Amino acid sequence: MKRFFTPELDVDPDQIVLCSNCSTCRWTCTSYEEFHSEAFFAGGRLRLLRSYVEKNLPVDESFVKAVYACSTCEQCVERCPVKVPYVRIIENVRKKLVQLGKGPYGKLHVMGDMAYMHKNVFGENKLDRGNWVKPDTRISTDSKWGYFVGCTASYKRPEIADATLRMLNYFDIEPQILGADEYCCCSPLIRTGQVTRPVYEESENGEKELLGTLETEKFIVHNVEQIQARGIEHVIFSCSGCYRTTTLDWPKFYRERHGILPFSTQHLTQFLALKQRKGELNWKGSYPETVTYHDPCHLGRHVGVFEAPREVLRSIPGIKLVEMERNRQNSVCCGAGGGFKAGFGENAINVAERRLNQALETGATTIVSSCVFCKLNFLDAVKKRGVDIKVLNIEDLFVSLMDLV
Ligand code: SF4
Ligand code: SF4
Repeated sequence: MKRFFTPELDVDPDQIVLCSNCSTCRWTCTSYEEFHSEAFFAGGRLRLLRSYVEKNLPVDESFVKAVYACSTCEQCVERCPVKVPYVRIIENVRKKLVQLGKGPYGKLHVMGDMAYMHKNVFGENKLDRGNWVKPDTRISTDSKWGYFVGCTASYKRPEIADATLRMLNYFDIEPQILGADEYCCCSPLIRTGQVTRPVYEESENGEKELLGTLETEKFIVHNVEQIQARGIEHVIFSCSGCYRTTTLDWPKFYRERHGILPFSTQHLTQFLALKQRKGELNWKGSYPETVTYHDPCHLGRHVGVFEAPREVLRSIPGIKLVEMERNRQNSVCCGAGGGFKAGFGENAINVAERRLNQALETGATTIVSSCVFCKLNFLDAVKKRGVDIKVLNIEDLFVSLMDLV
């Protein structure tokens, strides 16, 4: 195949020339809405990419910023009339920039450094990963069910991990957790192109010493082996990012050299929807409020789980479920994904604030989601911008209405 791009940014030309420059994707792009720049939506980025590689321009800081100022929400892919696989292209470009030592953008490399050293992106002590488990909840060492907690719920939003465990206990499941043996699922690393890269330690005089190589495949293989060694057959997720990565990315990394994943994956909203369909979800309390549901990009557009959370919410006594104008496939990103919050913190909160205002326009008093990152970013917007709305995840509602807290 003829490659007219520079060796520096070796991208499949057949995919890029698919873009017809129609700019349909511009008007629903959260990145464009935030930055108002021609290079900050899918079609614009593809034009930029093409001009860089065709003219053999050296990669500079503005190019790197444009490539990373995108939450990989896939709204553009949904809208694109010719289905340009934009997110796949941009993740490949990010990977290439990291290999060249020109990416990731800003401080995003810290997530990779921390993951290499501590097996979580926050640099927390890996031995503390299971510290969120409370004495009045139950885990086991022989269940067929496992709960993959993720870095954020383990260290930053332990109430999500606690609520998920209580929900499973309610249905007489005492899941196994991996604790210190659970490594980052690699979602933030893969999304930001840090699939494999050297890790350096910088001394006070600015000299860099090579510590080793971050290899996401090793994290994935480690996690799979830990799950398999415990005899776990079904893994539950409360984090939409972990669920997406485990369901869509892990098999790609794992299959070629190791075979198919030896367990099934299920998001907690799918688990609850199945219980509801079987007549096993009998709510004790009611929630007499107007509620709107925000689709996390990783759970919705990426994996296609739209109806399970709505089925669960509709089954709650007293609830009035209303939809925002943009919902399901056309839902708006909360601004947290794809490394956007980590790389562009204040912009991410602007995006979340706009989404919360869309929720308020429906008359809702509560916005419910089912992702740790969406909740984290919405709560930041509530705190910093004073938006007057309650932010909950489905597991929060579950433990509250079932009197489990
Ligand atoms: S993935 Fe989302 S943020 Fe990125 S260009 Fe597409 S619509 Fe915009
Ligand atoms: S909608 Fe598709 S074809 Fe149109 S500009 Fe965007 S990526 Fe290109």
